[in-house]
Amino acid sequence: IISTKAEVMEKAKEANVKFIRLQFTDILGVLKNVAIPVDQLEKALDGELMFDGSSIHGFARIEESDMYLRPDPKTFAVFPWRPRDGAVARLMCDIYNPDGTPYIGCPRNTLKRVMAEAEELGYTMQVGPELEFFLFHIDENGYPSLKTHDRAGYFDLTPIDMGEDARRNMVLTLEEMGFEIEASHHEVAPGQHEIDFKYSDALDIADKIVTFKFVVRTIAQRHGLHATFMPKPVFGINGSGMHMNQSLFKEGQNAFFDPESPLQLSQEACNYIGGLLKHARAISAISNPTVNSYKRLVPGYEAPVYLAWSGRNRSPLIRIPAKRGMSTRVELRNPDPSCNPYLAIAACLKAGLDGIKTGITPPPPCDRNIYEMTKTEREEFGIGSLPGSLEEALAELAADDVVKDALGPHIFSKYVEAKTTEWEQYRVQVHHWEIEEYLTRF
Ligand code: GLU
Ligand code: MG
Ligand code: MG
Repeated sequence: IISTKAEVMEKAKEANVKFIRLQFTDILGVLKNVAIPVDQLEKALDGELMFDGSSIHGFARIEESDMYLRPDPKTFAVFPWRPRDGAVARLMCDIYNPDGTPYIGCPRNTLKRVMAEAEELGYTMQVGPELEFFLFHIDENGYPSLKTHDRAGYFDLTPIDMGEDARRNMVLTLEEMGFEIEASHHEVAPGQHEIDFKYSDALDIADKIVTFKFVVRTIAQRHGLHATFMPKPVFGINGSGMHMNQSLFKEGQNAFFDPESPLQLSQEACNYIGGLLKHARAISAISNPTVNSYKRLVPGYEAPVYLAWSGRNRSPLIRIPAKRGMSTRVELRNPDPSCNPYLAIAACLKAGLDGIKTGITPPPPCDRNIYEMTKTEREEFGIGSLPGSLEEALAELAADDVVKDALGPHIFSKYVEAKTTEWEQYRVQVHHWEIEEYLTRF
């Protein structure tokens, strides 16, 4: 791993790099970048490069718009699909104020702040995401369609799986960029795929998630396909999730593992689950950030709806995968890949820490299929549900001081402002379904 300025300079030279992309995300998680020729690299690494923050979604007001980019040397990576002679590399950046303090509107700084809170208690968070996506054909005019010629399902292989070549190329490219790929496969729905990479610490994974989406889309395009991380592109079939496996390490050991306890889960693990469940409705506003996200969170498509946890089945929000020892973890199943990973991970960590700090005991695990329970049965077991819409999720967020605290006041207000506008725009649209249903009936 490259970790100093000198090593970046050295590596850039060795790889014959001509351009550097300085990357960061806005508060909605959209990746932004500015390209600089390599002779500006030293200046960039010294944090001397400035940009206009007022043009970035959720960043500063016009009056205070000068912002500085501080590249993180650890994130240096060459784009394997660009020419080798005169190569292109990228660096992920933190945003700083002109006075040298971290900018509060920067999602990456926000995650680092919450990670520092965990470190004060001796914990480092480990995250393993599972990103799902669809590959669709591009039409004659060059626009993405919803068409897939593929009729494959879970774990199917060629010749039915038309995305296989594209997926293979994605895996190879990601590996070249430093990802350790654990598995890749066709998912349940036609045209749907999943590629899993190895868990790592929270910041590294957030960087990897934004990189992953960008690489997958780039490679798909080179195969004449459009990759989408939209949570529910097609009604009636599975949507795409981004399950988030999470654990806390302490002194190099997995703090969630306790061979002596029931389910071999430590007290910390139980409290962490308690924290996630308590704050799940507010977290949804961050981890399921679009109008479309809530069309995925419905019964029948392997996506969670109910607030419960289980050591066994996949219907609840939180599942405990069978692995123990260093791999002991909780899998949160509601996040989807349209979220800003820095903020979503920060919100989860904050909620889990709240569980540990205040000793939240989760309800007993629910090993029944919750989808088959009646409303009264769910009430008896005290099983609530995730928000049914973005509007509901935003109201939950506004009422949850712990999750608000994870975002900080600046991002909280900008985020809610942007998302409320998104909801309002959607709310007044006349949907195709309404026309079908009402046009001839009334
Ligand atoms: N696609 C499902 C979802 O929306 C998840 C399927 C799986 O368990 O991998 O979350
Ligand atoms: Mg999956
Ligand atoms: Mg999973």
